[in-house]
Amino acid sequence: MGYSGTVLRRANARLAARRAERERAQSVLRAEIYKKLPRVAEIDRLLRQTIVHIIGASLREGSDPSTSIGSIRGKNLALQTERADLLTGNGYPADCLDDKPYCAKCGDTGWAGTHMCDCLKVLCAQEQIAELSKLLDLGEQTFERFDLSCYSDQVWPDYGRSPRENMQKVYKICRDYAQNFGRYYFNNLFLSGSTGLGKTFLSACIARTVSENGFSVVYDTAGNIFAQFETQKFSRNSEDSRQARDGTRRYLGCDLLIVDDLGSELATPFVQSALYQLVNIRLTADRRTVVSSNLTMEDVRRRYTPQIASRLEGEYRVLPFFGEDIRLQRNRQL
Ligand SMILES: [Zn+2]
Repeated sequence: MGYSGTVLRRANARLAARRAERERAQSVLRAEIYKKLPRVAEIDRLLRQTIVHIIGASLREGSDPSTSIGSIRGKNLALQTERADLLTGNGYPADCLDDKPYCAKCGDTGWAGTHMCDCLKVLCAQEQIAELSKLLDLGEQTFERFDLSCYSDQVWPDYGRSPRENMQKVYKICRDYAQNFGRYYFNNLFLSGSTGLGKTFLSACIARTVSENGFSVVYDTAGNIFAQFETQKFSRNSEDSRQARDGTRRYLGCDLLIVDDLGSELATPFVQSALYQLVNIRLTADRRTVVSSNLTMEDVRRRYTPQIASRLEGEYRVLPFFGEDIRLQRNRQL
């Protein structure tokens, strides 16, 4: 899980609104029925008194309470039958005034014991997609819409295969990774190649599919991520550093972190250490990460410390992106 505070707050607010709406509708219906059928109101009042009578009977000393409790139960049953007959006789379902939650599993609380109920998970997934959409265009970005025909089928000698053949493989790995998230052969992906080759598109597809399957996903650019680590460490403004602390916690704690554009930031010693911390903590906690970057693994080795390079090389599956910029090609075709 590990949903962000904002996502959880919004999902809980929607659950509360749903509960309030149900209670409101229920009280409107109750008022309508009580007005039309005053005897039903009377019966409800009598039934509520029953519990008081039963307690009274059990507390009365010196007599066996079972006889009086039995007679109260009998009266109760008669009242319930009369009430059901009145309701059905007037076109209402017999149980229309009973408290019926939308979700029987959790009674609309969102929790079944210590487990988050599926109904709240669905709301969290929806709120998370809304949150991700602020940074990623998730509207059109689905695996079904991915267009392989944008990639040339001419073999590139350096790679020994065509961009299209390569993308077929890359696409399949990204799709299988997202659809089988947490159970797939590769835990972490490194999408490597120049801009305009579909890295962000595929990252968005992964973010959407993994979100829809109920996992917490955070997407951000490397620049923003390191800026948050820096603010958390150095800011003197307590509000800024509190927000940055929440941000870094999300980067470290979410089920899937998507780091966009690694390598576009300044590789200061601070960034080196923050990147190592981020990669290492997530690996140790068995949390998945997808990195997209213009850098190749060789560039990574040159740019960052040997420890970072060795963690990335050892634990990430590199997916190379090559070909002509598909956006430029599209413009040319227009
Ligand atoms: Zn539920």
